Amino acid sequence: MSTNDLSNSVIFPIGEKFESDYFKGTVWLKMLTPFGSACPIGNVTFEPGCRNRWHKHAGGQILLVTGGRGYYQQWGEPAKELHTGDVVEIPADAKHWHGAAKDSWFAHLAIEVDPDKGPATWLEHVTDEEYNQLQ
Ligand code: MN
Repeated sequence: MSTNDLSNSVIFPIGEKFESDYFKGTVWLKMLTPFGSACPIGNVTFEPGCRNRWHKHAGGQILLVTGGRGYYQQWGEPAKELHTGDVVEIPADAKHWHGAAKDSWFAHLAIEVDPDKGPATWLEHVTDEEYNQLQ
């Protein structure tokens, strides 16, 4: 794979291609903490155009952007463009999605807050119509 626009920001292992209906497009995932950690942290790398479905985390989530350009959108609010160094704190049970821009790779660490509260709830896909409005 070519990750030219991430070449200065690949810090953590990229992991394996993660095949999942929770994403549209190709994503790589590497869990950085051991299974069962009280504070699970994953390194997530999105190919250009890749994004996840609308979803919620029972305990919330923190995103630390480590490379590329992408978006975070909370339900009912405009999408926010994200760049290396941006931090997003996602409240518990807030419906949202995150992913790459159309023309850029995107990488973030995803920190699961209060994992004991339960797993994520996966909802509908972000439509092409919604996504394609973003620059
Ligand atoms: Mn999330």
